[in-house]
Amino acid sequence: MAGDFCAIVLGCSGGPRENNLSGYLLYPCQDPNQLLALDAGTLLGGMDVAHARHHLKDFDLTHKELTTVGEVLLHKLKAYVISHAHLDHICGLVSASAVDMRKSIVATDATIENLKDHIFNWVIWPNFVNEGRTPYLSHYHYVHVPLEKKTAIPHTDFSVEAFLLSHPHEYPSTAFFLEYHSSVMLYVGDTSPDSFEDSKHLSQVWKHAASILQEGRLKGMFLECSVPNEEADKIRHGHLSPKTMIQELAALQQQAGVSLKGLKVVVTHRKENFSSHSDNFDLIEKQLTELNHLEIKFIFPSQGDRIVF
Ligand SMILES: [Zn+2]
Ligand SMILES: [Zn+2]
Repeated sequence: MAGDFCAIVLGCSGGPRENNLSGYLLYPCQDPNQLLALDAGTLLGGMDVAHARHHLKDFDLTHKELTTVGEVLLHKLKAYVISHAHLDHICGLVSASAVDMRKSIVATDATIENLKDHIFNWVIWPNFVNEGRTPYLSHYHYVHVPLEKKTAIPHTDFSVEAFLLSHPHEYPSTAFFLEYHSSVMLYVGDTSPDSFEDSKHLSQVWKHAASILQEGRLKGMFLECSVPNEEADKIRHGHLSPKTMIQELAALQQQAGVSLKGLKVVVTHRKENFSSHSDNFDLIEKQLTELNHLEIKFIFPSQGDRIVF
């Protein structure tokens, strides 16, 4: 049976491998034309892998002169929803901007300022967007998303609501609630646990998520877990580990007063460590599985996967 939302994994690691950085396509299973990219660290390379695995079949393709990946990029994808301007979340979008047209870049003012000043500035890359240093080539248009206020995503039936997250050195990252016909998906960008920065940012996200959860409208979540527990304990780190991820999800459950049992949570941003005997991807999966007293349905993605929520 079709679910509410489908996702295609373009890239799922937290680096450093440049061909598998954070990027997810999200669409209502019933209407794949309403296609969003949630971050775009890896974009076309991830679509190639998904296509090779026959996971782009939901898209009704009509432009015979284009390849499948070309048509999905140019004619299906409507907007890039960007959590923050770190390279591992934008590389694919920047690289595609030379040929890509008519897309929204949906982000907070802080992220848009960073893209304008440091990426699309005619120094690092031509200005393919519609604000910042002139001339504007306007392949993309910025959609400024105010914090904690529902905003429509142009050319789709989606709305988005953004919440600030803590990333080290007071760098602004974002969590997005994506809503389509009352169903909601939560995408959480890179974040410290609240305990690390003595912040309340995640607890604000959980407060909002709790009410949606109580109404039975939260269909799933993308949440980062970058490093295994040992690494998080050793170096102070602006990311979640299995231990802090479970603590945060327990805080959500407590806030909501509703069991998280069976909630689908896609584990994003695991960082590769090159160890031949203790692979971080496996270790994070093992630790999260052991700590999972909440009985959440964790999904450990691979590039090119198709996920149904
Ligand atoms: Zn980051
Ligand atoms: Zn990152």
